[in-house]
Amino acid sequence: MNKPKIVILGAGYGGIITSKKLEKLLKSGEADVTLINKHDYHYITTQLHKTGVGTAADRQIAMTIPELIDPSKTNFLKATVTHVDTANQEVQLEGGETVNYDYLLIALGFEGQTFGIPGIKENAFELRSFRSSKAIYHHIKKQLNLFKEDQDPSRLTFVVAGGGFTGIELLGELADGLPKLCKEHDVPFEKVKIIGIEAAPSVIPFFPKQSVEYTTEVLRKLNIQLITSTKILGCTADKIILENNIEVPAKTLVWSCGVQGNTIVQKWGLPIEKGKLAVDSYLRIKNTKNVFSIGDCSLFMKDDKTALAPTAQVALQQAPVCAKNIVASLRGESLTTFEYHHKGSVASIGLSAGVGKVGAVRLSGLIGAFMKLVIEARYLFNLGGPSLILKQHFGVNREQVTVTVKQ
Ligand code: FAD
Ligand code: NAD
Repeated sequence: MNKPKIVILGAGYGGIITSKKLEKLLKSGEADVTLINKHDYHYITTQLHKTGVGTAADRQIAMTIPELIDPSKTNFLKATVTHVDTANQEVQLEGGETVNYDYLLIALGFEGQTFGIPGIKENAFELRSFRSSKAIYHHIKKQLNLFKEDQDPSRLTFVVAGGGFTGIELLGELADGLPKLCKEHDVPFEKVKIIGIEAAPSVIPFFPKQSVEYTTEVLRKLNIQLITSTKILGCTADKIILENNIEVPAKTLVWSCGVQGNTIVQKWGLPIEKGKLAVDSYLRIKNTKNVFSIGDCSLFMKDDKTALAPTAQVALQQAPVCAKNIVASLRGESLTTFEYHHKGSVASIGLSAGVGKVGAVRLSGLIGAFMKLVIEARYLFNLGGPSLILKQHFGVNREQVTVTVKQ
């Protein structure tokens, strides 16, 4: 008898942890598992602000997928998925190759949301992937070099759009990392302007008032100029256009005004709600028995009105339940209902401050920053045990991750 084929699309938080759990749950020879991802590395999205400013080594943020999986249990295929044909149980890949499945997990993650604002797609940078964060780093260095030639102050103006968690983490990191970069490039840091622009009346508008005040104060102490209650209406390569006829001359805009599910999944004839794959309480795509979806490309309703937020925390809680349900499906056993337990949220503001809430406890300052490090270390531990933490931090026995970035 042919072994059932399990195929996982995407090796982000949801996909890689599901494949690791399957390695543990499946008996030897019970199924073939194939993990497909467009790059041969996995990256820590929650630390991309550091790659963007060059405050962390690449090896701390990205690691090769073959290093993380057990090749005797999981086949890894580096390929870009273009289509899923559920009628024929087939995944189509760029280049024309196809892969058949009996059980499929779609965990293709998120895309930035630009709301069709003119010039953003063409001119702004994003903190979306390891590659896009490296593009920011190279661009910053290029601007520092060019400033020495033309003294154009707009080269030293770094603007972050959106004061959600992504925005404040990047603003804090820029304030921490730019002095060193400026020194390396022989550019006076005093001439640098870091600006955060937020449409709502404050940064992190969804957080308690004290946390908002604390964050605003920390950002101001870091000499970051905050422009709130102001929408960005567009940008070119040289300026950012704001409401009320304001223009900010700047050659660097990082767009972090929110995310949406990977739009590729909308073209596959599967049930879509709010642009994402609608899943049932077992994490199966509605009206299917053998196609699952987790993480940012899926929509899981917590109750009648509220969907779970697109966070790593959600994807990481879904992954083990999804693995269990895939195995139960192939064994003909009953499935487990997914229940989400929110543990809290913590964001860093540079190296020595953080803000967040864990349970009922509000965190700020060094404790907040420390908690963010603990959360990251815990993830690495789950991914590859203590040896991965050592490898990450000390660079022992690491395979080099290579990315090509347009410069
Ligand atoms: P992803 O992690 O996006 O993984 C999707 C994978 O699919 C990627 O490897 C991608 O390369 C691959 N892929 C995409 N399209 C294709 C294709 N066509 N073919 C093949 N492969 C493909 N959440 C938190 O809980 N805490 C945080 O501190 C936090 N920090 C964040 C910081 C930033 C800057 C950002 C942008 C987000 C942050 N989030 C955080 C949110 C979190 O990163 C996402 O919710 C999480 O990455 C979702 O996991 P996922 O597995 O659904 O998708
Ligand atoms: P977000 O949606 O949380 O925040 C986007 C911000 O951009 C909002 O405050 C919004 O008012 C603002 N905005 C929208 N349009 C604008 C415009 N035209 N001009 C100016 N401002 C505008 O998005 P995010 O910060 O990218 O986060 C995405 C997801 O990732 C969220 O679920 C978040 O919780 C998660 N995340 C978590 C962490 C963490 O836990 N440390 C860090 C980063 C991201």
